[in-house]
Amino acid sequence: MEVTLIAGEMVVHASVPSGKSTGSHEALELRDADGGMETAIANVEGEIAALITSREWSSADEIDTALIALDGTPNKSRLGANAVLGVSIAAQRLFAEAAGVPLWKAIAERGGFSAAAPRLYLNFMNGGEHADFRLPFQEYIFVVGGKTSEAYAIAQDAFAKLGTVLKSNFNTEIPMGDEGGYSPKFDDIEKPFEMLAALVAEHSGTSIAIDAAANALRNDIGGYTLTGKDYTPDELRALYAGLIKKFPFHSIEDPFAETAMGDFAKLTAEAGEVIIVGDDLTVTNPERIKTAREAKAITAVLIKPNQIGSVKEAIEAVQMTRAAGWAAICSHRSGETDDTFIADFAYGIGAHGIKAGGLGQKERREKYERLVEIEKGAEAV
Ligand code: PEP
Ligand code: MG
Repeated sequence: MEVTLIAGEMVVHASVPSGKSTGSHEALELRDADGGMETAIANVEGEIAALITSREWSSADEIDTALIALDGTPNKSRLGANAVLGVSIAAQRLFAEAAGVPLWKAIAERGGFSAAAPRLYLNFMNGGEHADFRLPFQEYIFVVGGKTSEAYAIAQDAFAKLGTVLKSNFNTEIPMGDEGGYSPKFDDIEKPFEMLAALVAEHSGTSIAIDAAANALRNDIGGYTLTGKDYTPDELRALYAGLIKKFPFHSIEDPFAETAMGDFAKLTAEAGEVIIVGDDLTVTNPERIKTAREAKAITAVLIKPNQIGSVKEAIEAVQMTRAAGWAAICSHRSGETDDTFIADFAYGIGAHGIKAGGLGQKERREKYERLVEIEKGAEAV
């Protein structure tokens, strides 16, 4: 979904990504029966355009409030979260341009955040639903912090090296998964971590993360199945504990299904310094983040604006996350576009990290490149 907003001489565009491994409580992405977005587009060109052009607006926040009211449902199911968020992002861009400030700065000011460069979370190996389960977990992530330009250079070097090692291991080219990372097939659960750990050993300030995306690992006997082997929730927790002990882990996202709040809490209690992240569990929804907070279920929240459907509510989700004392990690979606809004959002809120995929696809690299550009601009001020 791409939206263009025009105000006088200013013309801005925004496009909205689409997820494949979605949580059941996400805002609704409105699709036609054939998978198209004609209805959502008609909503933008019809009702939403009528609202936007009906009066003058003094802020992007005011526009978001009106859009949320116009939709009138708790999950944007009438107009579509894709329609509403497209306009919401475009409005944020427009007001930043009108004020003559960079997008990230407008976001920082809007939410009262201290802007800062996020750690880069690069999805080096894709598994789960993003790669036909050639690897059990959905994302095998190389985490690198510090100055973005230097972090990105390290990531490029490490990604190329991994490609060479995998190629010589398998004696063939390795296919890419949905998010521009390699997707080799290993039945040995530890093998991908050994490969990432070897890269981490070469660069200080780097570490490993995963998105287990455990919704997709559920079996029908109340547990999880990984590479053909069944695990009870306690056995899966023991598997994570073993991995944390053995490898340099920074965080684990969605280690259990979205319904298993108690299992999240148990793992969080024993994970020590390792951050436990909610994605499908919390779906960028302030109410669900509040519930997770009461359960002490996690220590970080993944922030994906299209899970909630407006910039305003994504900012509220970050504020709720921070009120819990937790880290906010911003994320792209598996179906991405060239829009780099999420990079500005991550920098503007001073996120702990940003997940934007591997380096094998242009739409993933563009997010990291935008962060390098932001850093240069911020240094020049
Ligand atoms: C994720 O699960 O964190 C992710 C980015 O994938 P998707 O967009 O398919 O939800
Ligand atoms: Mg996830």
